Amino acid sequence: MKITAITTVPFSLPLRRAIGFAHGSMATTEHVLVEIHTDEGLIGRAEAPSRAYLYGESQVSMVEAVHLWFAPLLVGLDPFRTDTIRGILERTANNNTIKGAIDIALHDLIGQAVGQPCYKLLGGHTDRVRVTYVCGYSAPQEMADECAQVHESHGVTAFKVKVGVDPHKDAAALAAIRGRLPDALIYVDGNEAFSEKDALNMLAMAAEQRVAWAEEPCPAADTVARRRVAEHGAIPILGDDSCRTLSEVTREAVNGAIHLVSIKVARTGYRLSRDILGLAAAHGIRPLVGSQGDSGMGILAGAHFCAAHRATSALPAELSFHLNLAADILVEPPPIINGELLLGKGSGLGLVVDPDKLGRYRVDR
Ligand SMILES: [Mg+2]
Repeated sequence: MKITAITTVPFSLPLRRAIGFAHGSMATTEHVLVEIHTDEGLIGRAEAPSRAYLYGESQVSMVEAVHLWFAPLLVGLDPFRTDTIRGILERTANNNTIKGAIDIALHDLIGQAVGQPCYKLLGGHTDRVRVTYVCGYSAPQEMADECAQVHESHGVTAFKVKVGVDPHKDAAALAAIRGRLPDALIYVDGNEAFSEKDALNMLAMAAEQRVAWAEEPCPAADTVARRRVAEHGAIPILGDDSCRTLSEVTREAVNGAIHLVSIKVARTGYRLSRDILGLAAAHGIRPLVGSQGDSGMGILAGAHFCAAHRATSALPAELSFHLNLAADILVEPPPIINGELLLGKGSGLGLVVDPDKLGRYRVDR
């Protein structure tokens, strides 16, 4: 089998309502669909989300990177040569999100070619994923209502709560959520908004509400503060925005700044995500699968990776972002029932794109 073309379709999806976090809020999501075509008629697909404030990639830059750099280098190659192809992609610096999507699309293609779902190709541990719901920033009572409603409607028992705008509101929100969901797994995400001193205060407050760990309280660049907060904080620290690449995870691990690491296949594909798993194991850091504001397609990509491995299956994965979307390009976005996302028997990622929906939400026409 040979790659004959790589095509891209930028698309944007409406959110049910704007999602707030420490640095601002967003009302629509931006993605690029990557399609790898072959001489056997199979097409591998994946999405790359655009999050310029984290990765410096736009829909336009990702489309251009494929057409200018990556497609000309990959056309004619056997798509099973994922390691060779990763080496070729790395001749170009940065552009990690679009590289990640190309890598995942190759695995979707391989899964289709051998008639197996991706989670079986990658490790085959289980076919289901326990999910975490990510609760954006709003009034404390509204946040508690939102979590309780997702618990009611989808059986979700794990929640990530955005903090970092106002310490009194953060405390009130955590108390309200804990009051409504006494047995839930709750963790917080500070999105790098805290100084060392404020972070230590927030962690002590969170510990009182039995918060399990805290994601990125301090800026990724504050190396010394991060180590001290990890050493002296009341609860463990989860690395995310500081851990976008293998070398960044290494830096955080060596600095003693993280106890857990968020693996997002949107930024490290499958190849590099597996390298991060090994690195995390070597440093005694617990991995969990995060989400990058993905649509159903990206959620499925993360779910296959999570289900494949024992280490990632041990903790719930942040694979519920699509519940916030008012639309999707898949015929059916992956359902969450009893707090779990169940992977089907379909080969590759098991994607079925709805051409009418893609036509409606694509932004290149
Ligand atoms: Mg985060």
